[in-house]
Amino acid sequence: MTLKKIWAQGLCWLCRRTDQLVTFIGPIEVNGKRAPAFACADCCNWSRQYVNAYTRQLDARPA
Ligand SMILES: [Zn+2]
Repeated sequence: MTLKKIWAQGLCWLCRRTDQLVTFIGPIEVNGKRAPAFACADCCNWSRQYVNAYTRQLDARPA
C-alpha cells in the first residue's frame, strides 16, 4: 500500500527553504517533545537514498 503524499507550501525542516512544496515526513522528537516535520521533494529524494544506503549497509552485515 502506498500512501498518497499531500504537498503544501511551507518550511522544509531539512534544507530550511520556504519556496518549495513540502510533505509530512513524520514526527520529530526532541527531549520528549514532538512536532510534525515536513520536507521538500529534493530533501525527500536525498532522504530516500540515504535510507536505502543505510539499510543496504545493515543487510550486508555478517549474520
Ligand atoms: Zn528541503
